[in-house]
Amino acid sequence: MLELDNPCLDCRNKCCVVGLIGLMLSKEEYEAYFKKYEQSFLVIPEDKLVFLTARDGIICPYFEDRGCKIYDQRPFDCRLYPYQMRLAYETKEKIKFILHSRSDCPRKTNLLLPEAEAKALIMDFGRKVYGNKKIIVQNCDNLLARLTNKIEILLVKLFKVLGIVK
Ligand code: SF4
Ligand code: SF4
Repeated sequence: MLELDNPCLDCRNKCCVVGLIGLMLSKEEYEAYFKKYEQSFLVIPEDKLVFLTARDGIICPYFEDRGCKIYDQRPFDCRLYPYQMRLAYETKEKIKFILHSRSDCPRKTNLLLPEAEAKALIMDFGRKVYGNKKIIVQNCDNLLARLTNKIEILLVKLFKVLGIVK
């Protein structure tokens, strides 16, 4: 992954070493790259996704001195970093993701993708995982967006309980 002018070089890929605190993977990504290392992770399968957390802050098995061994095939969640994506909610018709840049990356000012590209990456991930379901991506970097998102999630939960939304 790393070339001499790569801004991650002197950081030594801290996001892969200590930052593997949560990867959201498609089942395909999990099966292809992480299933064989499942003993090292806390694995939470959820419908079409797999959430991965490193046990005891271990290093990602694909991290090596000069970077990611599977850089060209790395998971969507890794491609998005220093943005991070989260699942907000899923209904029968649609699925909503949020993205935010509240990660610890010290170089994120330089490394963040343009927001439109980050959203397109999540849309691509969503289409691969959920097919034709309507996909919404919202930037939740600011407080107002976070609050409205939280209210929306609560309303969706309530409407599901009441049977108004499935
Ligand atoms: S993306 Fe950020 S945290 Fe990760 S290695 Fe590069 S500079 Fe460090
Ligand atoms: S797959 Fe590659 S980019 Fe993703 S956490 Fe592991 S080493 Fe880092």
